[in-house]
Amino acid sequence: QKAEWEKLKSQPSVTADGKQYTVAANIGTPKDMKAVVANGAEAVGLYRTEFLYMDSDEMPTEDDQFEAYKSVLQDMNGKPVVVRTMDIGGDKHLPYMPLPQEMNPFLGYRAIRISLDRQDIFRTQLRALIRASAFGKLRIMFPMVATLDEFRQAKKIFLEEKEKLVKAGTKVSDDIQTGIMIEIPAAAVLADQFAKEVDFFSIGTNDLIQYSMAADRGNEHVSYLYQPYNPSILRLVKHTIDSAHKEGKWAGMCGEAAGDPIMVPLLLGMGLDEYSMSATSVLKVRSLMKRLDTKDMKKLADKAINEMTSNADVAEMVKKATGQE
Ligand code: PEP
Ligand code: MG
Repeated sequence: QKAEWEKLKSQPSVTADGKQYTVAANIGTPKDMKAVVANGAEAVGLYRTEFLYMDSDEMPTEDDQFEAYKSVLQDMNGKPVVVRTMDIGGDKHLPYMPLPQEMNPFLGYRAIRISLDRQDIFRTQLRALIRASAFGKLRIMFPMVATLDEFRQAKKIFLEEKEKLVKAGTKVSDDIQTGIMIEIPAAAVLADQFAKEVDFFSIGTNDLIQYSMAADRGNEHVSYLYQPYNPSILRLVKHTIDSAHKEGKWAGMCGEAAGDPIMVPLLLGMGLDEYSMSATSVLKVRSLMKRLDTKDMKKLADKAINEMTSNADVAEMVKKATGQE
């Protein structure tokens, strides 16, 4: 197995029937790039920039951020990097930015909601990102988007900052895609409408499952409701992927489920384009894909979505069909 994985490091991610997909890695800081490169990930599918803010005693400056984003883009050598704008709130706090006390922080003031409210912080981050875009293939992603209006506001602010930098003579890429996380059920349901305006989706199953099942992802008393293969979740995922493809856009997944050996066959069957996971899972997933035929996986996914009624039944079917018992 070690020898096979070693060989796979420099190979594309291809299924048994020759279809190519992108197996990408999630990172929290530029230091994580070593493992990304060592495991041969084909992209960074999620850079959680909130760690840049959390690991600091004060608000990181535009230049601090620029250096961090630039170094990640350069390490990828022209391969795509999806950078997610600050996802603070919920259980993530900044010592130097007090947030309101809330009854339900996961349903409260967080992520894009803070960014649109505190535009000083958001514009600084966007400027750092746009400046860094000259050094690689940047995609900007907004977290916790619930409505089309939020995306439109965020995109408008992005375009304003880009325009200012271009006018000032700063070198910027003219190919910066902007997309959203699909992690709130309302956005998944309206994915067909979002798909007309975004460049891409990345499905965040950690939160999408939490919000769909109304079960706190960190609460052990309700952890049985964390059900990635529940047909309700699979239907939201499929609708998201189909909606993207209908508009010629791409869809990825960057929640834990993207690297899960039971979920990967189903996602292949639904035609997901990019699978983003911890760097240490990349070769395992690439190796699994090599054994799977997308036509068979499509039948499997259709059956899971249309005929199955529970997480457990789907898991059992996929295990059997893919020899993972
Ligand atoms: C997710 O919600 O699935 C996700 C990838 O984002 P995070 O885990 O950072 O909330
Ligand atoms: Mg999330």
